[in-house]
Amino acid sequence: MKRHTHGNITVEACRLVRLAESDLVTVDCCDCGTFNLHFGPMTMRVRPEQLKAILFTLGRALAAADVPSEHVAAVHSGASGSRGQA
Ligand SMILES: [Zn+2]
Repeated sequence: MKRHTHGNITVEACRLVRLAESDLVTVDCCDCGTFNLHFGPMTMRVRPEQLKAILFTLGRALAAADVPSEHVAAVHSGASGSRGQA
């Protein structure tokens, strides 16, 4: 049985549900509502509000660094049909 702590609470056996995964990071959600972020051998456990804060901060960092959102653009421009939406 896996055992881990959330703050000062020790959880006997949390059931994890795989929410998303990619080459770099895997995200599981725990029964207790904690998100488990796996970066290779490193695991980070965060509360939902903390995860939102992290995403918000990362988004701001990308915007500040002026990194183009190629992946998002690629997904939305998958079909090359140009039906004039004007
Ligand atoms: Zn848990």
